[in-house]
Amino acid sequence: MHKGLIVQKFGGSSVANLGRIQRVAKRVVSYKKKGYDLVVVVSALGDTTDELITLANKINAEASEREMDMLLSTGEQISVALLAMAIHKLGFEAISFTGAQVGIITDTNHTRARILKINTERIKEALHKGRVVIVAGFQGVTLNQDITTLGRGGSDLTAVALAKELNARDCEIYTDVEGIFTTDPRIEPKAKKIKTITYDEMLEMASLGAQVMQARSIEVAKKFNIPIHVRSSFNHKTGTRIIKEVKKMEEVVVTGVTLNKNTAKITICNVPDRPGVAALIFKELSGNGINVEMIVQNVSRLRQTDISFTVDSSSLARAVKLTRNIARKLKAGEVLEDNRIACISIVGVGMKSHHGVAATMFSALATKRINIEMISTSDISISCIIEKKHAEIAVKTLHEKFGLAK
Ligand code: ADP
Ligand code: ASP
Ligand code: MG
Repeated sequence: MHKGLIVQKFGGSSVANLGRIQRVAKRVVSYKKKGYDLVVVVSALGDTTDELITLANKINAEASEREMDMLLSTGEQISVALLAMAIHKLGFEAISFTGAQVGIITDTNHTRARILKINTERIKEALHKGRVVIVAGFQGVTLNQDITTLGRGGSDLTAVALAKELNARDCEIYTDVEGIFTTDPRIEPKAKKIKTITYDEMLEMASLGAQVMQARSIEVAKKFNIPIHVRSSFNHKTGTRIIKEVKKMEEVVVTGVTLNKNTAKITICNVPDRPGVAALIFKELSGNGINVEMIVQNVSRLRQTDISFTVDSSSLARAVKLTRNIARKLKAGEVLEDNRIACISIVGVGMKSHHGVAATMFSALATKRINIEMISTSDISISCIIEKKHAEIAVKTLHEKFGLAK
């Protein structure tokens, strides 16, 4: 009796200790008993990846990215083996694989590699033998056999990519919350679970800091129309479905509020105002693998201007070093750095057809005396850079203001 294939992904919190791994094993087996074929993607146990990064930083703060990948990929290798053992113990057949073993071929951009192709023969062969296939998330291998990782949260991407390649009927993402909420429920307990959300909104929320899904995984899901079900590994409730289109009688304006505290601001003062300057700065940064999130350039006075931009906190030191070099070449002024900021955003496709949303957001922040340092907008989001110390209160204020707790 074959009911089709399901890809299930269990995040770090779902396999944080042996008891939880055993619980995951039981859930997987219960699906196997119902007649599904299963490919199970697993993240590293609990905070293993963070702990490995801390270890690396203690040895060498500028560790090579190839060696980082070699180190970080070990986390997922532990969890897949333990889960396979737990399933064996329940009397079922299972086999664990690393990303390389199942042919997840990536480019050579270590720590943020892109998947080029997946050779699914080995998985199909094991499924054919009736085994539960367990795949290490977050990792791949280059054509030269070097181990790579897919960026933080990359197990989500492994799961979505496998669901696509294997034509799975469903892709379930198991985590420590019951689905996608109107904001991070750890910050605002009044946050509500969203029943269905579009790829576009989820992608925007993920890019703007909602850690629950990796943004790149949603990009792939959207491209190939892969249905995703985000749900809790601690109960059996239906979670959130991420799909192409959500039909509602009256569109809600704001779907969610997101917060990103892992952001930092760099300002280059007195940049000469002439064609090609911005191109030079941002080409240099992107050429060195630094992802610039938000950019603000002031109106120039006396043919000079200040340019501010934000980057992920983890690349701040490298970005500042590169920016200082460019500033020197351009004969610009001082380069300032500020990591006491946070980015707060509201997201919703309904914004396209409503006006006054930005004004409502800014005045809500103003009533709490929260100063806005930078603003950026897209057609379905508005983001403000504020001081980190106001981050949580800003989330709660906007969540309330846009009626999301109702
Ligand atoms: P996993 O280990 O399962 O991959 P993550 O820690 O990556 O889990 O993501 C789950 C966490 O994402 C939740 O514990 C929650 O605090 C956080 N989160 C942030 N924003 C949201 C949101 N809008 N909805 C649900 N969870 C969110
Ligand atoms: N273990 C990796 C990380 O912490 C991948 C993942 O959890 O998805 O980023
Ligand atoms: Mg995650």
